[in-house]
Amino acid sequence: MNNINYFNTPIHRLSESVNDNSFYIKRDDLIPFSFGGNKVRKGFLFFEDLKKSNCNCVVTYGSKASNHCRIIANLAALEKIPCHIISPREDKGINFNNRMVEMFDAHVTLCSVEEVASTIENKIQKLNNQGYRPYFIQGGGHGNIGTESYIRAYKEILEYEKREDLYFDYVFHTSGTGSTQAGLICGKYLNKDQKEIIGISNARKNPYGGQVVLDSVNEYLEIPAKSSTMEKEVNFIDDFVLSGYGDYNDEVLKTIKKIMIDDGVPMDSTYTGKAFWGMKNYIMNESIFNKNILFLHTGGTPLYFNDLEWL
Ligand SMILES: *Cc1c(COP(=O)(O)O)cnc(C)c1O
Repeated sequence: MNNINYFNTPIHRLSESVNDNSFYIKRDDLIPFSFGGNKVRKGFLFFEDLKKSNCNCVVTYGSKASNHCRIIANLAALEKIPCHIISPREDKGINFNNRMVEMFDAHVTLCSVEEVASTIENKIQKLNNQGYRPYFIQGGGHGNIGTESYIRAYKEILEYEKREDLYFDYVFHTSGTGSTQAGLICGKYLNKDQKEIIGISNARKNPYGGQVVLDSVNEYLEIPAKSSTMEKEVNFIDDFVLSGYGDYNDEVLKTIKKIMIDDGVPMDSTYTGKAFWGMKNYIMNESIFNKNILFLHTGGTPLYFNDLEWL
């Protein structure tokens, strides 16, 4: 499972044809571990680092209904080490991710958003006192390791282009905490490539959302934090977040239904379906014609089944 080629996910054409563009999709939702997704790419690298650091339990933060917590809890169960999740107290009802988090026997500590930092600190202190060596993973798998995982994915895209003698003018994807986007931007930079990378935000607004992406890029490339060299590379589009995380409209649901019928690809209303809808609007608004466009499917398949209730 440590083989990097393990992640070489398929890219295939879609029937979508807005403005005579050709659409392709990279299926990170098909990574063959626990319903896949970008959290698996990140999670595998974090666990490699955890083992190198001789840690024997993991602490992370996020909604217990998130893809991130599902994957971290699954990897911890696989390694037979305790998994501690600090989760904001919220009432989102039962979904398939948090059912799986429970199945993996993760220890969930609920707290208010204001108490997150102190709750994490206390948890790590307590585990240290009990003789554990805790490994902390930021919410969403943020940080240089998360960024690294999408530099590797970028290489897969370049290899595909070479093999198929094709060039993608654009890469679109859902942007959340920003490390997927930071990885793609670093991948572009390190390979001296020219694609436009467009992150469609599913929740955060600018300037914060784009700034976090820029900070992550600068941190990874060791560019001084105040430098604006990479600023022009950060296209963090916040026009389609609606009223925020988890919000969607009828157009998003129509998009999800259409791509399942036409291409058999599952998407969800929080991440990929919302971004795919945003992408199509962006392409129309910006009058983008006759380009090769790659949509990176970042996963979240369990959420598709939650959405089935209203599709
Ligand atoms: C977490 C997540 C994202 C956002 O990725 P970031 O690296 O946090 O920007 C996008 N899509 C899905 C399905 C996710 O689970």
